[in-house]
Amino acid sequence: MSVATTNIAIEKAATSKIDQIDFDNLAFGSVFTDHMLVCDYKNGTWQTPKIVPYRPISLDPSAKIFHYGQSICEGMKAYKDEKGDIFLFRPADNHRRLNISAHRMAIPELPKEYFMDGLTTLLKLDHQFIPTKTGSSLYIRPFIFASGNGFHASPADAYKFMIACAPSGAYFAGEVKVLIEEKYSRSANGGVGYAKAGGNYAGQFYPTQLAVEKGYNQVIWTDDTEHEYIEEAGAMNIFVRIGDTLITAPTSDRILDGITRKSILEMAEDMGIPTQVRKISVTEVVEAAKNGTLMEMFGAGTAAVISPIAAFGYRDQDYTLPSLNETYAQKLKKGITNIQYNLAEDPYGWRYKVTD
Ligand SMILES: *Cc1c(COP(=O)(O)O)cnc(C)c1O
Repeated sequence: MSVATTNIAIEKAATSKIDQIDFDNLAFGSVFTDHMLVCDYKNGTWQTPKIVPYRPISLDPSAKIFHYGQSICEGMKAYKDEKGDIFLFRPADNHRRLNISAHRMAIPELPKEYFMDGLTTLLKLDHQFIPTKTGSSLYIRPFIFASGNGFHASPADAYKFMIACAPSGAYFAGEVKVLIEEKYSRSANGGVGYAKAGGNYAGQFYPTQLAVEKGYNQVIWTDDTEHEYIEEAGAMNIFVRIGDTLITAPTSDRILDGITRKSILEMAEDMGIPTQVRKISVTEVVEAAKNGTLMEMFGAGTAAVISPIAAFGYRDQDYTLPSLNETYAQKLKKGITNIQYNLAEDPYGWRYKVTD
């Protein structure tokens, strides 16, 4: 399906790390494949990408990434089916969002063919690293950062687009207990919350550490003005099921437009699950927890697909979610992963075949 239009030079690794990878005990995102993609932006244009052995890179101490945080990323996965065919999930959406993030951070937008051809060439070269075990996949991290130099607070004149890949096991967070955050904010109106900008994550670490010290795993972000509407679960979009209805917050300046989120919404509709995209107030969630209509809460994102929430804390009070036999979370996760792993028909056209 992918027609290679970009002439990508490949420098092969002298030796392969494939024998050192323990595919039965993969952690998430901590071992890497043999190669990586590098594409430089200089003299006002993106240069042809190249593939080189996975290795450290060298930067000037004044590189603007270090001082001004001009840095964005994407998160995606490659899946391998029984026959060894390789698939991606809605990759054009990742490219589109990378450029939305780039635009907001004054980073030059990346041509689609460099993204797609770079990605598919790299995956074909490192195909042996794509796990086949159920739930495992190759986590893919495309990213762009300011490599240009100078202690001047302005956009850099040079950037690097890179793709690194990590064979990864199922992302399993266990029973997640979350804290509804009322002091700190992840993002603000007019800010960069809708971009996958590096600093968004750095800003989450400290409030999350405080929540962890109190015995929670993760923070539920609320709106920055009133702290009354729930917006995201850590670095995932959030869904709440009240009665039979599945609700998620509308995307905005402050909320990232997740590909998992929009896939869940579309699939839920087709499964006959009533859905609503609207603001969800903390008051409503607490009320529903008290009167027994709060059925499920879960986070949604590429890494875990769906991460069920077992309990939440709000103003020194913990609320436990019921344990149901059949959950929307399970049903939707199965529906989405079956498409990703080529185990089911894909009426949506979400699955993208890398191999010919
Ligand atoms: C990446 C991300 C998500 C999930 O997006 P997906 O496209 O589903 O992976 C949600 N929220 C935040 C803040 C994110 O960074």
